[in-house]
Amino acid sequence: MQELTPMMQQYMEIKQKVKDCILFFRLGDFYEMFFEDAIVASKELEIALTSRDCGNNEKAPMCGVPYHSATSYIAKLIEKGYKVAICEQVEDPKLAKGIVKREITRIITPGTFIDENLSTANNFICCISKNRFEFALTFVDVSTGEMYSCLIEEDLQKLLNEIGKYNPSEILISRSEDELYEYLKKNCTSFVQMIEFVDLQKCYEIIENQINVGKIDERLILSVGNLLKYLTETQKISFDYIRRFEFYRIQNYLQIDINTKRNLELTESIIQRSKKNSLLGILDQTKTSMGSRLLKKWIERPLIDVIEINRRLDSVEQLKSSYSILVQIEELLSRMYDIERLSSKFAYKNVNAKDLLSLKRSIEVLPALKKLLSSFSAQLLKEIYEGLDTLEDIYALVDSSINEGAPVTLKEGGIIKDGFNEEVDRLRNISKNSKELLVQYEEKERNLTGIKNLRIGYNKVFGYYIEVTKSNYSLVPDRYIRKQTLANAERYVTEELKKLEDEILGADQKLIELEYQLFCEIRDRIEAQIERIQKTASYIAILDVLCSFARIAIDNEYVRPNVYLGDKIYIKNGRHPVVEKMIGRGNFIPNDTELDQVENRILIITGPNMAGKSTYMRQVALIVIMAQMGCFVPADEAHIGIVDKIFSRIGASDDISSGQSTFMVEMSEVANILKNATPKSLIIFDEVGRGTSTYDGLSIAWAVLEYVADKSKIGAKTLFATHYHELTELEERIPGVKNYRVDVKEEGKNVIFLRKIVRGGCDSSYGIHVARLAGIPEDVLKRAEEILKQLEEADINRKSIRKLRREIKKEFTEQIDFFSYKKEEIIDKIEKLDILNITPVQALNILS
Ligand code: ADP
Repeated sequence: MQELTPMMQQYMEIKQKVKDCILFFRLGDFYEMFFEDAIVASKELEIALTSRDCGNNEKAPMCGVPYHSATSYIAKLIEKGYKVAICEQVEDPKLAKGIVKREITRIITPGTFIDENLSTANNFICCISKNRFEFALTFVDVSTGEMYSCLIEEDLQKLLNEIGKYNPSEILISRSEDELYEYLKKNCTSFVQMIEFVDLQKCYEIIENQINVGKIDERLILSVGNLLKYLTETQKISFDYIRRFEFYRIQNYLQIDINTKRNLELTESIIQRSKKNSLLGILDQTKTSMGSRLLKKWIERPLIDVIEINRRLDSVEQLKSSYSILVQIEELLSRMYDIERLSSKFAYKNVNAKDLLSLKRSIEVLPALKKLLSSFSAQLLKEIYEGLDTLEDIYALVDSSINEGAPVTLKEGGIIKDGFNEEVDRLRNISKNSKELLVQYEEKERNLTGIKNLRIGYNKVFGYYIEVTKSNYSLVPDRYIRKQTLANAERYVTEELKKLEDEILGADQKLIELEYQLFCEIRDRIEAQIERIQKTASYIAILDVLCSFARIAIDNEYVRPNVYLGDKIYIKNGRHPVVEKMIGRGNFIPNDTELDQVENRILIITGPNMAGKSTYMRQVALIVIMAQMGCFVPADEAHIGIVDKIFSRIGASDDISSGQSTFMVEMSEVANILKNATPKSLIIFDEVGRGTSTYDGLSIAWAVLEYVADKSKIGAKTLFATHYHELTELEERIPGVKNYRVDVKEEGKNVIFLRKIVRGGCDSSYGIHVARLAGIPEDVLKRAEEILKQLEEADINRKSIRKLRREIKKEFTEQIDFFSYKKEEIIDKIEKLDILNITPVQALNILS
């Protein structure tokens, strides 16, 4: 260490504290990285690796990035799984004695990274603590100041389901949870970290000091407290802007597990893994980032409370029927900036004049918005109307103080408006009118002294001076101080000129400082009102989502569902919201659905591949989800009895990455469904059993269906698509089972898909027809037809053997019946047996 240069010593000391991070060490206008950090970063960021003398005759590897464009580099490193520590100069280099003081000001991790340019979506960090029989989960979005907590029974699958809703980029758990660590590492895409947990008492203190959200359930304290501790340690700011805390129970929402969410493509499509072509993609007509974030939450957590759902539906209905008001509201909303995220910008002291101007422009629309809302009678809209704080005082403050053309930087001046502060006006006047002032002064001195050719000049050594030519020396007054003698003239200064000079030269600097100081005052005054801004932001978010629902209902011809506390689901001419968008509304064939707890509990749907079975089943699930979100639905009519959980097991999604076979994945998903479904659930099974041999698969599918249908076991409403035609026999055997098929029309060797769901089973899978559609060569198809014929003949033989067996069995059963008729006789005979004295052969004969 001693051989190192002082700056390198300072670097080493700081690096000691953040060994697991890449250290961005501020040197002037750059963040520099050294040694191992430099080698890693230069590779990951594709920037040049250089070196710097570090003292002990050696050169340290070094690379750097300009401070003003650091965010994009940090983003890259975070995405690649690194943590970045920012070390700033914490004193003015000009004033520093010796080496400039430097400190770590922030540690950036995936869950705490905020890049407003990158994405408007939520970025959650999660902390999981384990109580005796449950997990406590807390999620925070540092950028918006939202915090959510919930308790989950100790079930890893359920833990994953909940994590999946937030998709946190970082998860914190206690150092003692090795097993959980391994599990999460394997099953989540989040960056998982083990940290030193502090105890309950310490957590209480942290919570008390940091946030003000009312009383928190004791079972959550460890996860909330440790999360806050981690955040304050890494971010080095106060989190008192977290004012929105929600402790919820998963049972209070429609439960959708992570596989179902994926299968139904609620927030992203399976293939492109993007929002486009997902339900969210279709429903998101929101105008603000706040609305867009809230919509995602509503999709992931639809409601089960009929009153609450209908409150949303009432509002959507009113907005929909007042089209011209809707258009005006949309226009006003589209002018709003992401004011929800301002709260964190204030906390990080990251706010600039542009942000305040955006805030002003957002607030500007509020009075008009409020006025538009005044005409509605729907409860939720009324609540928004009454609760919406139009923040006029903040508008007035920003409007009177901040210059419209203010720059992004705070140390350049040009921020404060003319007329806001007298001193600013005066200084600005001086700096603008310095020439004018000098001319005025020159004029004044000429008159006072009577020296006609007195002139004011400037040079670097003496600054401003008064020059008097030789011939006028006698007129020079005493108050002139001589500074320089030239061949033909003398140069003087005066007290007044010195003052003027100080003002002129200092005005710019003073102005910049004063403007900065005023800006900070304004910023702090607004920060004190942040809770009001947050509240307005949350009302705006709700309004935005409701308008989005009204908008898509109009554009896509959706209807209001009748959501009620009952058992029936009836959908008339239902459509799949995403598929109909992809293929065009006119090309989509609508279908009805009837599900209840009596006649139509289980629908077995057969039909060739590609007929539209999956689409149909998903459409039912999506319509239920949409209805319970409070959204209108793609149908002519819909009556939705509240559902508590939705499950789907669709397609054979191979999960090669986790090393499990398709069939294993399929079966564990089915197991999960059988374990958790209730009579109020809706289940979608698509081709269950496909992953194994025919008989295995068929028997499993059969048994699963029986179990689900059995009211004493589950008795949930179920849609079951299958190519095992044998299953259609169940209609005869189990009450509540109904057969449906997706209709096709055969035309010669071709099939035409009619996409219509009709009653009855279908007895051919048309695989070869579909193969023909897909362009398999005719030779192959011909051969396939031959093989199919042979197999079917063999099957007929097998079937006749089965028939024979059945007949024998029947006869045998009748014989038993015949014997049982003479029960007494048999019992009598058995009782009279002398067991100890008969040989085995005798015994066999008796038995026979
Ligand atoms: P299956 O599950 O029977 O193999 P899918 O549900 O995957 O069939 O449907 C195959 C394709 O058929 C879909 O991608 C869609 O383009 C089209 N399709 C499905 N249902 C309909 C419908 N009701 N109207 C129009 N096209 C449909």
